[in-house]
Amino acid sequence: MSFGIDDLPVRDELRGKSPYGAPQLDVPVRLNTNENPYPLPEPLVERIAERVREAARRLNRYPDRDAVELRTRLAEYLTKTAGHPVGVENVWAANGSNEVIQQLLQTFGGPGRTAIGFEPSYSMHALIARGTGTGWISGPRHEDFTIDVPAAEKAIAEHRPDVVFVTTPNNPTGNAVPAEAVLALYEAAQAAKPSMVIVDEAYVEFSHGASLLPLLEGRPNLVVSRTMSKAFGAAGLRLGYLAAHPAVVDAVQLVRLPYHLSAVTQATALAALEHTDTLLGYVEQLKTERDRLVAGLRALGYEVTESDANFVQFGRFEDSHAVWRKILDRGVLVRDNGVPGWLRVTAGTPAENDAFLDAARDLKKEQE
Ligand code: PMP
Repeated sequence: MSFGIDDLPVRDELRGKSPYGAPQLDVPVRLNTNENPYPLPEPLVERIAERVREAARRLNRYPDRDAVELRTRLAEYLTKTAGHPVGVENVWAANGSNEVIQQLLQTFGGPGRTAIGFEPSYSMHALIARGTGTGWISGPRHEDFTIDVPAAEKAIAEHRPDVVFVTTPNNPTGNAVPAEAVLALYEAAQAAKPSMVIVDEAYVEFSHGASLLPLLEGRPNLVVSRTMSKAFGAAGLRLGYLAAHPAVVDAVQLVRLPYHLSAVTQATALAALEHTDTLLGYVEQLKTERDRLVAGLRALGYEVTESDANFVQFGRFEDSHAVWRKILDRGVLVRDNGVPGWLRVTAGTPAENDAFLDAARDLKKEQE
C-alpha cells in the first residue's frame, strides 16, 4: 500500500478534495482555458528580452517590493480605458488575479468568516475561500444564469457574509452583470455587515459594455480585480491586479509575502504594457470571432448564453460530458465546467473556431 495524502495530517477541510485543474491535453485545437490564442508580437518579445536582461543584472537584489512603476503604468491603463481616474495608490498587483483574490480573502475572510458567490461562477473563488479557511456560501442565479438580485439580497441579509464575489462577465456562463445589480448587492452587503464586494473583471476588455471601475467612487468596500492573462494575451506571465480605495491597498500589505512579484515578472509586465494598443487590437478580433461563434452555434440549433467574454457557453445536452468527449475525438478541446447540460468554448483563431464549428455541425448531423 502506498503512502498518500490521506495518510498525512492535512487540514480536515482538504481531505478527499481534488486540486483545480483543467486538462492540459496535447490536441490540435485547445479552446478550453479562455487563453488568448495569439502569441505576443515579435517586437514585444524583443522588448521583454531587453527589459528582462536589464532586470537580470540586478537579480542579486530583491525586487521593488511595492512594484511602484508597474502599478503606476497599470493605473494609467485603467484611467485611459475605463474613463475613471485611478492612481498608483489605488492599484495593487500580484501573481495572477488568483493571488490577488487570495490576498483579499486572507485580509477580509479567514477562519470564522464567510464569502458568498453566485454559482455557477469562477470555481477558484470557492477553492481560494477553502484554502484560506473562509466559509463558502453558494448564492442563487436565475435559470438563464443572470443573478437573481432579490434572492441574492436576501441571501446576503441572511448570511451576512464578509466578502461578496460578483464575476462580470461571468465565467463560465459569459454574461455580464449590470451596474444596477452590482450596486444593489453592494448596498445589501453594507446594510448586512458591512462587507467587501469583489468585482472580478477578468474578461471585461471583451465586453460589449463598460468596466464597473467608476463605481469605486465613494465606495471604499468595493474592489475591482483584473488580469493580464486574457486581454493582454499573457497567461504565462502571471500578473493580476486590483483597483480600490487606497485603504484596501494598505490592508493587503498585511498579508502579501515580501517581494512576491519577481523582478522578471515586473519587467515583463512593464514591457507588455508598452504594447497595450497592439494587444487590444487582438481583443477586437477575438470579439468578432466570439460573435461569430455565437451566431454559428445558434444557426446550427444550439442554445447559447449571451456572451461578453472571450468564450461562449453552449448546450443543451442530456450528457454534456459525452458531448465533450465527442468534440475531443474530433481534435478540439472545449471545457466541461460541470454545469449540467452546458459546455464552454474559448474563442480561438478563425481557423480554430472553424474546426470547432465543423465538429459542432458533425455532432448535430449525428443526432438527426
Ligand atoms: N477570474 C476569473 C473569472 C477567471 O476566469 C480567471 C482565469 N480563468 C481568473 C480570475 C484568474 O486569472 P489569473 O490568475 O490568470 O489572472
